[in-house]
Amino acid sequence: MAYQYPIKDVKGLHSASFAEMRPDHFHSGVDIKTEGKIGKPIVAAEDGYISRVCHTPSGYGLALYVTHPKRGTMTVYGHLSRFIDGVESYVRDYRYQNRANSVDINFTPDKFPVKRGEIIGYSGNTGNSFGPHLHYELRNAEGTHTYNIVRKGVLRPKDDISPRLLRLHYIEVDTLDGVAVEAPVKSFNILGKGNSYKIDGTVSVGRVGYFVLECRDHQTGNGSSRFGIYRAKMSVDDRTIFDYRMDGFAFSDSRLCNLVSHYAMQQGAKCEVIRLAQVAGAPERLYHKSAGRGAIRVAEGEQCKIEIVVEDDCGNSSVLRFTAKGKADSQCFTPIRDCVAVVAGVGSRVVATDRGVSAFVGKTAYYAPTFCRVQRTENRPDIEGVVVLSDECSVLDPTVPMQRHVTVALDAKVPLELMTKCCVAVKNRRGKYTHAGGYYAGGGKVYLRTRRVGDMVVVADTIAPTVRPNWREGANLTRSNRLTFSVSDNFAGVDSYSLWIDNEWVTLNYNPLQGVVYHSFDRALAAGRNTNHSVRMRVVDGVGNITIFEGEFYR
Ligand SMILES: [Zn+2]
Repeated sequence: MAYQYPIKDVKGLHSASFAEMRPDHFHSGVDIKTEGKIGKPIVAAEDGYISRVCHTPSGYGLALYVTHPKRGTMTVYGHLSRFIDGVESYVRDYRYQNRANSVDINFTPDKFPVKRGEIIGYSGNTGNSFGPHLHYELRNAEGTHTYNIVRKGVLRPKDDISPRLLRLHYIEVDTLDGVAVEAPVKSFNILGKGNSYKIDGTVSVGRVGYFVLECRDHQTGNGSSRFGIYRAKMSVDDRTIFDYRMDGFAFSDSRLCNLVSHYAMQQGAKCEVIRLAQVAGAPERLYHKSAGRGAIRVAEGEQCKIEIVVEDDCGNSSVLRFTAKGKADSQCFTPIRDCVAVVAGVGSRVVATDRGVSAFVGKTAYYAPTFCRVQRTENRPDIEGVVVLSDECSVLDPTVPMQRHVTVALDAKVPLELMTKCCVAVKNRRGKYTHAGGYYAGGGKVYLRTRRVGDMVVVADTIAPTVRPNWREGANLTRSNRLTFSVSDNFAGVDSYSLWIDNEWVTLNYNPLQGVVYHSFDRALAAGRNTNHSVRMRVVDGVGNITIFEGEFYR
């Protein structure tokens, strides 16, 4: 018997598909639209028990995990507004006992058994959610592997629209000192519609290279919502040389989306940028029969017939056909040695210079060796709200994806009073400097453990968070169900927040996307006592600047 549909009173339209490319991860489930509303009943998809609940400001926000022992699976329901009463009061008591605003609790099977179709909570917009919806997942019983829930037949959206193929790129490759080096990207417009496409012009290729395809999917009657794809297959002269299929993935592999896509081109793209080649480190189980791993080899003057088929998870497919012609040998890509560049990555432990910057690159930081250039400019950028303490420098290439953290050490002259407020600002791809962590380690060195590299400077953030109550001093809150504050921070971000009413610790909920923090009168003041109450709130930013708010209200 199929699983029960997990949410009531909705049209069943989706807003995100399984394994869509997200920053540094694959989307691990399907997002179901709730027509802009919160509070739609969520039901257990199958018999089992609630095995885990989370209540966190980011991620899935309020989330429920239900284990189904007979199926050997687990279903996950994210971004909820509320749990059912029994779970809700358990979580509340647990938060008070542990004085913890964020919790992640595991349950034994006897604690909250559920029947198929039983209401377990209500949909919402909590955590990292940009509008009300249900995030729904099917995992293995251990919760370590997530399945393509549509391919598994658990959900079946109405869809007869084939994926749209938008643009093709070709990249020639070669090696230099054992490091793979890529030529500048050559791009081609794709013509056609429906499910048959061709290339505008001739595609010339070098000795060795690969293709990258920009595409996206749409679903019937679902407006402009964009989706990911399920499969991309490529053949050369009718022989399959590449076949990517997304039936599921282990969470430990989720970051490998940076190899499945073309990392540099995927950043900020409003579509899927699929690399039609399996590079070193890419998860083997996602690629089938890829003899040659997608590498295109065409000799001078020869030509071949290329066919690329893209399929969505409902089985609709589109095809792109074109001829590739081998370039003259003299026209092929030959990498030029950059005498300042050094090799970083697998096996090389340290990249260091005498320029006041160094990076300690662990053996597993990169998927493959890469070139980098250590640079320190004389430029000291102006960054609003912080004191800039070093020149701009860069060590590693931000367009190369990283598996694990590296440690960067930066020299900076830091005045005594700013030492504890020190951190590192890294420029993002929009040119804006944002907080990346880091600390002053003594001896004129600032350390940063990071997977975000690029242009960086040492800064000090001395400005404490801003806290503004959304009620007037002494206000009568007898009819309110929440005590709400607007909270923001100029740079290092809100790190922790606590609230005391009448000197007793009480729960606090934080929604970073909305910049709102609230207490929901969930215990002592649930009924109100018709008297004045003192309020004390403490908010700390990422480098330890503290704001204390004190006030009074009536309830
Ligand atoms: Zn989601």
